[in-house]
Amino acid sequence: MSLQCPLCRHRAAQLYHKDKFRSYYQCDNCDLVFVPSQFHLAPDKERAYYDLHENSMEDEGYRQFLSRCAQPLLKELESPCHGLDFGCGPAPLLAKILAENGHRVDLYDYFYMPARKALHRSYDFIVATEVIEHLVQPGVEIESLWQRLRAGGVMALMTKLVISAERFANWHYIRDPTHICFFSVNTFEWLARSLGAELQFVHSDVIFLRKIRGL
Ligand SMILES: [Zn+2]
Repeated sequence: MSLQCPLCRHRAAQLYHKDKFRSYYQCDNCDLVFVPSQFHLAPDKERAYYDLHENSMEDEGYRQFLSRCAQPLLKELESPCHGLDFGCGPAPLLAKILAENGHRVDLYDYFYMPARKALHRSYDFIVATEVIEHLVQPGVEIESLWQRLRAGGVMALMTKLVISAERFANWHYIRDPTHICFFSVNTFEWLARSLGAELQFVHSDVIFLRKIRGL
């Protein structure tokens, strides 16, 4: 069994939690808690799971949920900007909210919007809401997204954070079989150092990484 961390690639991790479905390991270097690959769903099963949980563009509750990310991001974007909604899913409501406010938003989703040319442009902002906990290779994916972000730009991430091992054991978030990476404050601090990013915790589950001008 390979226990290489999918974020920082460090090769030492400790068992963090085990339930009747999966084991969870914590990286000794960046503190990411991850599910080893033998417990990952096959892509067709993963897709079927997402199809069951389709959000709607008209769902007011979903709009409220996304506003935790959208409102602080809109404050950052002074003039009309060009951004990417990475992992937008079948109902790209966040992109719609941002477009309603004058911004242009490209869409990419591995299953629902697989237009990879969107991953080769440069952006003023990149949003990924409830995405990074699903990534098989979060290190590779986040680094390549970071390359697409212009200086002065912001990467807005939404994911629920690991608080403690005790809380983790009873956490609803780990019951989703498509959730395979769990980030904490320490993990984001490691990530920000690694990218040379300015880090801001905007809400309990909203994290901004800014690309400092001049780097
Ligand atoms: Zn790591």
